[in-house]
Formats: sequence, structure tokens, C-alpha cells
Amino acid sequence: MGVMTYAHTLGFPRIGAQRELKFALESYWRGETTQAELIAVGKTLRQRHWQAQQQAGVTLLPVGDFAWYDQVLGTSLLVDAVPERHRHVVDGKSETDLDTLFRVARGRAPTGPTAAAAEMTKWFNTNYHYLVPEFSRDQRFKLGWSQLFDEVEEAKALGLPVKAVLLGPLSYLWLGKEKESGFSRLELLDRLLIVYQEILAKLSAQGVEWVQIDEPALTLDLPDEWRLAYLNAYQRLSGPSKLLLTTYFGSVAHQRDIITSLKVDGLHLDLVAAPEQLETLVPHLPAQWVISAGVINGRNVWRANLAKLAPTLKTLKTKLGERLWIGSSCSLLHSPVDLSLEQELDAQTRSWFAFAVQKCYELGLLAAYLDSNARDGSQIDKIIAYSQPIVDRESDLRVHKLAVRSRLASLTNSDFDRHSPYPVRAELQRADLKLPLLPTTTIGSFPQTSQIRVLRQDWRAGRIDDRVYEAGIQAQIKDAIERQEAIGLDVLVHGEAERNDMVEYFGELLDGFAITRFGWVQSYGSRCVKPPVITRDIDRPAPMTLAWTQFAQSLTDKPVKGMLTGPVTILCWSFPREDVSREQSALQIGLAIRDEVADLEAAGIKIIQIDEPAIREGLPLRKQDHQTYLDWAVRAFRLSASPVADSTQIHTHMCYSDFNLIIEAVAALDADVITIETSRSQMQLLGAFERFNYPNEIGPGVYDIHSPNVPNQGWIEGLIRKAAQQIPVERLWVNPDCGLKTRGWEETEAALKVMVNATRALRAEL
Ligand code: GLN
Ligand code: ZN
Repeated sequence: MGVMTYAHTLGFPRIGAQRELKFALESYWRGETTQAELIAVGKTLRQRHWQAQQQAGVTLLPVGDFAWYDQVLGTSLLVDAVPERHRHVVDGKSETDLDTLFRVARGRAPTGPTAAAAEMTKWFNTNYHYLVPEFSRDQRFKLGWSQLFDEVEEAKALGLPVKAVLLGPLSYLWLGKEKESGFSRLELLDRLLIVYQEILAKLSAQGVEWVQIDEPALTLDLPDEWRLAYLNAYQRLSGPSKLLLTTYFGSVAHQRDIITSLKVDGLHLDLVAAPEQLETLVPHLPAQWVISAGVINGRNVWRANLAKLAPTLKTLKTKLGERLWIGSSCSLLHSPVDLSLEQELDAQTRSWFAFAVQKCYELGLLAAYLDSNARDGSQIDKIIAYSQPIVDRESDLRVHKLAVRSRLASLTNSDFDRHSPYPVRAELQRADLKLPLLPTTTIGSFPQTSQIRVLRQDWRAGRIDDRVYEAGIQAQIKDAIERQEAIGLDVLVHGEAERNDMVEYFGELLDGFAITRFGWVQSYGSRCVKPPVITRDIDRPAPMTLAWTQFAQSLTDKPVKGMLTGPVTILCWSFPREDVSREQSALQIGLAIRDEVADLEAAGIKIIQIDEPAIREGLPLRKQDHQTYLDWAVRAFRLSASPVADSTQIHTHMCYSDFNLIIEAVAALDADVITIETSRSQMQLLGAFERFNYPNEIGPGVYDIHSPNVPNQGWIEGLIRKAAQQIPVERLWVNPDCGLKTRGWEETEAALKVMVNATRALRAEL
């Protein structure tokens, strides 16, 4: 028998199956526990996670994947790239410790100075957020925090087979940002490489044979100078330990010329995101390299069909022998921890899933099969038995609903269009709604008070019955309507008191979703999200928002805006299916939302908002793929929005900072009104809309809802005036930047009053 096939993961979730790290961090930040206690929790979790992986069958364990907040921030500390403002100087010396890290991440820590936190942004196309490294022209690097080396010692002391995990120098620089103009952060590479050389030498001295060096930036469209920099960098890093160059989230075949010339010892490919790399890249790689086949999806919750993978891997194994490794496609960071906690899921749904621990087991099964003797059928039998539930699912009529499929197949182009173009609709809406110039409204949610949360929890736990719950929510709606009338808003909302989350709420009411109990995934720092899982074709058994909206409308003569989450956002914030395209699921959700829209209209609701805050983040990593995505995203939205009469007004809402790449698609949604976040950019974001001659109505946010501060009336008037210079005033709305659910009532009422007063003052003048 040859050398065993290495099975490895690129990283394991650090947060803990019960979010232990989250709670430990938060209690430390609140000053309730000591740093030593926090450190002990981290140590326990690392040990538990290594052992869980090893027991499941992983043979080479990731060390260095743990992070107290974020792995990019951990890298910044490792190379001592700590912004001056976050350093804590005592007796002329600044020591890097856990509090340094928390100061960069959160702007404050139990010790040291308070200063603005570093910026945070999304990690490639995931919902994970990293801390953006800040670079200055005279940036110095040196060997900084020793966490990585300490953890290597920790794993060695446990007798574990260690593979060190390190974010590569080019991806690290790429993900950062220049803090002053006039230089490129790529110029810092030489200085950074000196430290990386020291890191690798130190790891080698610790006896580390393999280093996983992550270069996910290779999946992007990189400028040529960045591509070339890889050659020089890896020339200089080769030597001490063996390097496994790790890529994920997409294909790197477009970098073939560069990659094949790099001085590394192996390459990891994400064969889930881009299986075609087996043909486009693998045959061209240097003959001595290890090929790590990332075949188990690190960022979804599905049980793998190992039986389908087995023959391909066996062929590879025959070709590559001991040079074949198998692994998770990317770090398991993006997957929930342990399916065995999901005791409330029905047995069939559960049999379709695999969380991080189960994915390790899948790797173990595959490795055992690849290493088994051809005459020994027991390993392939195990693989076939394991894969059975997911194979059966392929022909399950509860999954593939004929009614949904045939309804989608029979759609025609007119189902994606409103009856008349916007100018015609606008006139009818004006006549019907009789809104004043600069209509005022809000984005949907009102403060989620503890009373509301307790009400929902009591109902879920069965402590109160449906009648009591319904009366409780109605009281909240009535309260919200009365307050809005007193404030003097023109278009009201019911306030979303019944929703825990704008996606999970619909996931629970639509058929085709599964809701987990502990399916938490780290979003940033101690914050986790629990996305619903799309498990089957989607349809809507019953109206989802109708009763609450109708009740709200019955209380007032002003129009109440129906409030829905759009198909693209529901899709982007869920775990998607792997057996149908994202487009297919988006259209199915689009149909379900369409039915809700039609029901709301039939019940007399004249304005309906379909939120799409996730459209931009769904953009694929490479430009060549943008248009295809935007085309179906727009179609899914239009499908949901188009059943209504011209006189019914469709709104949408998006909140982020950069519309330039998607402005054409945003216009193609053809919503009558779009509300966006603009107050923090002083209306600068409207520029994209102005340049594009955006044709429909816009509500640029006039105050920031992220802060409890009540805005000043003159300030808001100034912003509206500025907006009116960019967009004709007949097409302008006035509203806050986003929903108000995280705010308290006191500041909310005060701020909205100021907003209404500012609007009234301008109406008199414009
Ligand atoms: N209607 C939602 C709310 O007000 C929109 C939230 C969002 O944009 N993320 O809460
Ligand atoms: Zn928003």
C-alpha cells in the first residue's frame, strides 16, 4: 500500500457549536470576565476543534486558522501592521496583545486608548467581513504578535499533525487600503516579504513541514503588476517549509501562466466553485506538485454525493499517487459547526445536510476509499450508503415540484413587465395617491423593543397562544401607526414587529426552506448569522404579510406601504441549493413574492416595497460574470413586482455605498421609487444616479440610522437641497437611510419629526 492520502480542511469554524467564542468575547468586552478566562475559552475551542476534525478522519490539521476576531486582522498583528492610533504605549513601549486586536476591530478595549475602529468589508463573495489593513507610505513591518507560533506549539504539545495556515503576502496587501495618496500598497511588498521570510523560517524551526499559504486574490481579475509580483514573491519565500498555495471561491485557470511558474510545492483548487479546473489547469501543473482537490464544499450545508465524486478522484489518485490530497473547497469557516445538534429538523431534511464536523467525516470516508485495495469493496459500500439520501433526493417529488416548474416554464416576457412605462404610471399614481411634493416615508422597520422580542419568543416557545400573540403584534402596529400620524409622515409602514429577520421571516413561511437552530456562521467578530436553507422548490402556501398590512391600513387614511423582501436578497442571505442554479431559485422566490404582491394589491394596498439590499453583494468575483448575474437578478425582481396595475406604486430599497457597477441594473428593476443610503456620503452617492439619468423616483436617505444622534433640521434641509440639484424635485422622496429596528423610540420620533419639519420648510420654498 502506498502513502496515505492526506485529508485536510483549509480551516475550521472558530466560533464554536454553541457560539462559545461569541459569548466569551462579549462578556470580556463588557468587563465581566478576565483576559485569562477568554484565552482559556479560545484554547479549549481550538483543542476541541482539532480533535473533532481528527476523529472524523482529517489527517493534517490546520493551525493558525483560529482568530479572536478575524484572520486578516490576525495577519496584521503578525506582521505588526497596527495603526498608530490603536497602539498602547506604556513606558515608551507598545506591546501587542489581545486588547490591541480589539482596539483595531472595535475602536476600544478594556485597556488602551479609544480610537476609530478600522474599516470592515466583505471577504470576497461571502457574508464574512474582515478588517481592512491600513497602509501608509512609510509602513514598516516586523515580526509582531506570536499567536501563530504559540498555536503551533499548542498543537504539537497535543501530538497533532500540524499544517500551518497563513494568509499570503499578496492577498494580504490586496485586501488592504492606502491611508494616504501618492503610493501603491504593492510598493510595500519587499518590506513585507522580509517578515514573511522570518515567519516561514520560524515555522520551519518549529518543525512545520507544510504551510498552507492562502492566495484567494488569484481568483480575481488582477492588474498585471500584481500578477507579476507573485513570481518574485514566491521565489523569495521558497525554502524553509513546503508551501501549499491555496486558492478558493473560483477558478484560477486565468492565472495559469503565473501559477505554473511559482516556486511552491503544491496547489489547492476549489473544485466546488470551479470543477472545470481539473481539465483547464491540473494537466498543466508541474509534475512534482501536490494537488489538493477541494471537493467538499466549505461554504454550504449539503451532504456531499461522495459516490459521484469517487470515480473522478480514483482516476486522479491513479495518476498522482501520493501527490493527491483531498480537502474542503475553502475554509469551513463559512459553514455551521455540527449537524448533530439539529434535533428539531425533520429526519429527511437532516439526512441531506453536513455541517463542518460532518464534512470532515466525508473527507475521511473519501481518503479511506482512495487508499483502499481494489479488491476490498467495503469502502465504496460505505460511500454509497452515505450518499444514498442525497441520491434519493434527486427524484423526490417533494423537492422537485411539478407545479412550480410548469408555472415557471409557462411565463412569458410580459410577466416581467409592468403594463405601462414609468411616466404613464407616475401620472396615474400621482392622481391616485395625492401625495405632496417631497413625500416623506421610512424604510420599514420600527424599534424592536424588548417587549416585542419577548412577545415573539413567548409565542415561539408556546408560552402564549396565537390569539394572544396576534393581539400583541396588533397593539404594536397600532402604536406605530399612531406615532407616524403624529409625526406627520405621508406614507406609513406597519413597522415589522412580527419579523425577527427580514429573510428568516419569509424562509419560515415559504415552503421549500429549512430553518436550523444552531446553523450559525460568523459574519464578523462575535456577530453570527443563521441563514435559512433552500431545500426544495419554493412556493407560498398562504399569504405571509397580508393580515398585518391590512390591519395597519385599516387604522389610517394615509397609504400604508406593504413590506416584502425581494427574491435576490432572500437567495443571497440563505444557503442555496446545489442541485439547481441560483437563477432557478431566485425565479421561484420571485413567483412567490409576486403572489404576495398581488394579494396585497387586491386588499387595497396601494404602495408595496420590495427590499433588495443584497443585489450588489451577489455580484460574481470576476467582471466577465457580472452581466449574466445582473440579468437574472433583474428578471427575478421584475417577476415579483410586475403583476400590479399601473396605479399601484412599487418601491425598492438598497443600502450600501457603491452603485457604479450596478446602476444600469438598478434602473432596469423599474421600481417606481427606490430609497437608498446616502446621508453619510453627503448625497455623493446620488452622483451615480445623476450621471446615469436615473429615470424614476428616488428617496436618498437624509439621516444616518446607525447612530442614536438626532439630526439637525438645517443639516437635513441642506441635504435635500443638494439632492434637488441632482434629481428633479418632482421625483424626490424624503426618508432615513435604512430601517429603524435597532434604534429606540425616543430618538426615532425626534429624528423623524426633524425630517418632516425640514421637508415642510422646503416645500414652502421650492
Ligand atoms: N425593510 C427593512 C427594514 O426596514 C430593510 C432592511 C435593510 O435594508 N437591510 O428593516
Ligand atoms: Zn437598508
